[in-house]
Amino acid sequence: MDCIFCGIAGGSVPATLVYEGERVVAFPDLNPQAPTHILIIPKAHYASIQDVPPADIGIVAELAAIAQELARARGIWPSGYRLVVNSGPQGGQTVGHLHVHLLAGRQMMWPPG
Ligand code: 5GP
Ligand code: ZN
Repeated sequence: MDCIFCGIAGGSVPATLVYEGERVVAFPDLNPQAPTHILIIPKAHYASIQDVPPADIGIVAELAAIAQELARARGIWPSGYRLVVNSGPQGGQTVGHLHVHLLAGRQMMWPPG
């Protein structure tokens, strides 16, 4: 399978990891949309959040826990941040490997584009 985020998780595609645990890695987005823009991904391949089987759904909580940890470590709380999980074509997902965007450092707008 040709998956860029599997490549990053496995070390064959270069990225600066800002977090690495047993099941999760995080790294800056190549095309940042905010002063802080980090992608938090499971090392295991799930094409989208919709593709995580019920038995594995705890991985989504792990992604959230790392978001909390990064927000704490980077001082982007309590000013705030946004977590985004684009899912499927109308959700705007462009990379088919589950990821959470952690965006911070500017005022976020609503509704999203
Ligand atoms: P999506 O649109 O699927 O929610 O988000 C995919 C994100 O991955 C985009 O923000 C894009 O900039 C980022 N991205 C795509 N390819 C790479 C890459 O090779 N390295 C990194 N660090 N980010 C990537
Ligand atoms: Zn993958």
